[in-house]
Amino acid sequence: MIYLDHNATTPPAPAVVAAMLPVLSGLSSGLWANASSQHGPGQEARRALGAMRTTVARVLGCKPAEVVFTSGATEANHLAVRGLLDAAPPERRRVVFSSVEHAGHLRLARALSDGGVQVDFIPVQSDGTLDVSAAGALMGPDVALVSLMAANNETGVLMPVTEVAALAHAAGAPLHVDATQFIGKQPFAFSTCGADAVSLSAHKLQGPKGVGALLLRQGVPFAPQTLGSQERGRRGGTENLAGIVGLAVALELLDDVSAEAARLAGLRDALECGLARALPTMHVWSRGVPRLPGTSYLRFGQLPAEVVLHRLDRLGVAASSGAACSSGGSEPSHVLTAMGVPAAEALAAVRLSLGRTTTAEEVAYLLHTLPPLLEPLLREEMLTAP
Ligand code: PMP
Repeated sequence: MIYLDHNATTPPAPAVVAAMLPVLSGLSSGLWANASSQHGPGQEARRALGAMRTTVARVLGCKPAEVVFTSGATEANHLAVRGLLDAAPPERRRVVFSSVEHAGHLRLARALSDGGVQVDFIPVQSDGTLDVSAAGALMGPDVALVSLMAANNETGVLMPVTEVAALAHAAGAPLHVDATQFIGKQPFAFSTCGADAVSLSAHKLQGPKGVGALLLRQGVPFAPQTLGSQERGRRGGTENLAGIVGLAVALELLDDVSAEAARLAGLRDALECGLARALPTMHVWSRGVPRLPGTSYLRFGQLPAEVVLHRLDRLGVAASSGAACSSGGSEPSHVLTAMGVPAAEALAAVRLSLGRTTTAEEVAYLLHTLPPLLEPLLREEMLTAP
């Protein structure tokens, strides 16, 4: 199988799994214990938790005390937004999101709005980049927080985090950044990124599912949401030590981010150029703007995504569409809709996301096998076009 869906999740690295197993089984140590317990095994688990926190902080360029372990990025995003909003002064009741945030995050925006909080959305341009002047116009003394992703999970477009941080801070508001797709694919340091809170998820960077973190700048007013003594009172609940070990090991494996980014950009460009040569009606969104190195968001004429995904499946290639499926029907991607893409084109969107396991041989195989399968379909589409 050729796996080209790394933005959905990544296969866990063998070193990650090997490091987690002893914590899960608890046969050779007391690491299965509750890190809040006072007995020997509990202390052992607590020491391991502290060591993992130090590792995570070192790799991500923050202080250990700024790391709040969570069950993943969805929880970290909710924790950040509700935690910053609830701690904001009463005259700040408006929040500003980008219009292309992750689907789960936009559901949170809707829930806030239903609860009486004003939510404003920063638009994007037709190439998927953020409209920074519109962002500036949305700032004001009533803003409680701004939430912006570092890189879009569909287009891969990189967002102007430091610029928006400056705008938010000038208005007296903190910035939360969902860096789930960015960390592991681009160099990152919390201390210099400008954000006050950053979400990440282990399973996007060769770690396990169900674990992530919120990095929270020291001194930023924050109201805990899940109450308990763990994580300095900022996120209650017995820590998932095996998952946290997996996250720390996965982060330690990221010592070659720039080299890997260059390798993936080369593979992605070869894939896009080769497909465009063979199939001239192929279109790549956000091709000319800074984007994640391994993400390719494209359509072949207006062939429905499920037709293309079916052909890819026949070739043993796993990829995904840009449509959100709900109860049998498909809705065009909210990201493409925000870019002004018509529904018929958006429903043709296919995302190929390359990652650490992707090889030049896999790209060559796809270039060799996919065009002959799609070419007759595209010819037929052209003949039947109105
Ligand atoms: N934010 C972004 C940008 C994502 O791509 C994802 C995962 N698809 C999430 C948040 C949610 O992450 P998790 O699965 O860890 O909850």
